[in-house]
Amino acid sequence: MIIGTIVMAVLAVLILITHQVRLASIKDLKQKHDYLSESDVKMKMRSIWLFAGAALFLLNTVYKPTMEIHYVWFIVRLFITFCISTLIVYISYLMYKYSYPARLDKKLKELRFKPRISSSGNKMRLLSEEEEDVHLDEGMQAEEDVFSVDYDVWVDEQTGEIKIEKYAGRLEANKCNTCGFYTMKLKHEEIIEPATAVREGELIQHWVCSYCGAKRTKPVRIAKLEEGQEFKLPANLKFKDGRQIEAVKVQIHLSDGTTKEFEFQNAEQASKFLDTYQDEIDQDNALYK
Ligand SMILES: [Zn+2]
Repeated sequence: MIIGTIVMAVLAVLILITHQVRLASIKDLKQKHDYLSESDVKMKMRSIWLFAGAALFLLNTVYKPTMEIHYVWFIVRLFITFCISTLIVYISYLMYKYSYPARLDKKLKELRFKPRISSSGNKMRLLSEEEEDVHLDEGMQAEEDVFSVDYDVWVDEQTGEIKIEKYAGRLEANKCNTCGFYTMKLKHEEIIEPATAVREGELIQHWVCSYCGAKRTKPVRIAKLEEGQEFKLPANLKFKDGRQIEAVKVQIHLSDGTTKEFEFQNAEQASKFLDTYQDEIDQDNALYK
């Protein structure tokens, strides 16, 4: 038990150290961002599993004289310590699922928007959504138009050096097998068997690539769905003293109690996003009706 405790605890600490060292060794801000968003929670949870294992081993060394009375006490101890370890893992899991993402998101934003340094050592400037289009090819623009991928374009205004970084967008689009861009969107769905309040149905999805026009069909089961609401931004946004809009934040509260948040640089982009989002809701409702 003691050996088990030590091995588990050492491994738990080693994982945390490896994680920090790896993070510190990545100099490129974009790579740091990607590593953090990909591995931070994974590595920390792994360490917590091992820590819970260490606790399990350690707690199974207590009350030794009682264990010698009857083997039943050994089983009782095993059961209780198992519950404690499970609780450690479960509470950590809840923490990483509900409270940690906001903190991680803040760190990720800092990494994403910290000014980049060009190869000649100058501070680069992040272009706005309106300015960046000339630097993106048609496929990239198509991906941005369906909100599946977000491109950040940095420019060194002295040398004209350009750096393009790719981030996950706010909505899902599938990768097109023909052109390779994330522009495969659901165009319409054909109901083969309608779903009722109690039974699942079946439909055929027709996917079209908004960039190269490739088509694909896919059979899907229909689940029972709730009716949604309409999402729209006021047509004329006016602010005190003619202030300019710096960012538009859209918060969508879903009927299952969860909230989704999206940020945009201007009202026009946010409105377009809401239309796209509305289309997806309408498709869901069409299935329901
Ligand atoms: Zn395509």
